[in-house]
Amino acid sequence: MRIDILTLFPEMFENVLGHSILKIAREKGLVQYNLFNIREYAENRRCVDDRPYGGGPGMVMKPEPIFNTIEAIEQQTGVCSKRILLTPQGHPFSQSVARELAKESYLMLICGHYEGFDERVRIGLDVTELSIGDYVLSGGEIPAMVVIDTVVRLIPGVLGDLDSTTNESFTEVSLEYPQYTRPAEYRGMKVPDVLMSGNHQKIKEWQRDHALKRTMERRPDLLSKI
Ligand code: SAM
Repeated sequence: MRIDILTLFPEMFENVLGHSILKIAREKGLVQYNLFNIREYAENRRCVDDRPYGGGPGMVMKPEPIFNTIEAIEQQTGVCSKRILLTPQGHPFSQSVARELAKESYLMLICGHYEGFDERVRIGLDVTELSIGDYVLSGGEIPAMVVIDTVVRLIPGVLGDLDSTTNESFTEVSLEYPQYTRPAEYRGMKVPDVLMSGNHQKIKEWQRDHALKRTMERRPDLLSKI
């Protein structure tokens, strides 16, 4: 998968993309990250935002640097990417959206800042708008990192054990069952006997029961989707 990131703050990504699973995915040749500084594609590098028409607080990102960046990249690649505009007004990002995105071979993530994008970015470009939650961050960089991390670990071959992504929370619209590791007893808290029994059928039943119990207690809204 090729992932292009359009941002005014490319330095923010270096640490996140250079560690853990995202780094391993790149080293395995399963993903390529390309950072593009929107400012470099502006007609005037010092002017990527401006005051809103009609008044109001803050600055709005101008359309021209964003259109220019996308056109320059896609002219070079000759391929149209799946373009994602990060915005709190977008479709809610979820594990099922991530699973769909993991099937793409070319994603482009467009990060806003300040008061957000001039509306013509949304109207004039073929984009999918995604929100990572009902709260407002100062920029689209952290939301883009959330999307990248969630999607990349779903690309086949990125995680050593495929089961890691098939068993976990939200995969079957329920939360994951409780997990334990060594020691078998810690400060008086014991690992449930069944998990150490070696009886795979019983273990599976326990895991399913506890996934449902946990979901009922914490996220009953998810159960209605099963
Ligand atoms: N004025 C905008 C509004 O009320 O909808 C919010 C702009 S926000 C301060 C600046 C940028 O951060 C947005 O353009 C977007 O790229 C990003 N952003 C903030 N919250 C987000 C969220 N929940 N999901 C995705 N992107 C978000």
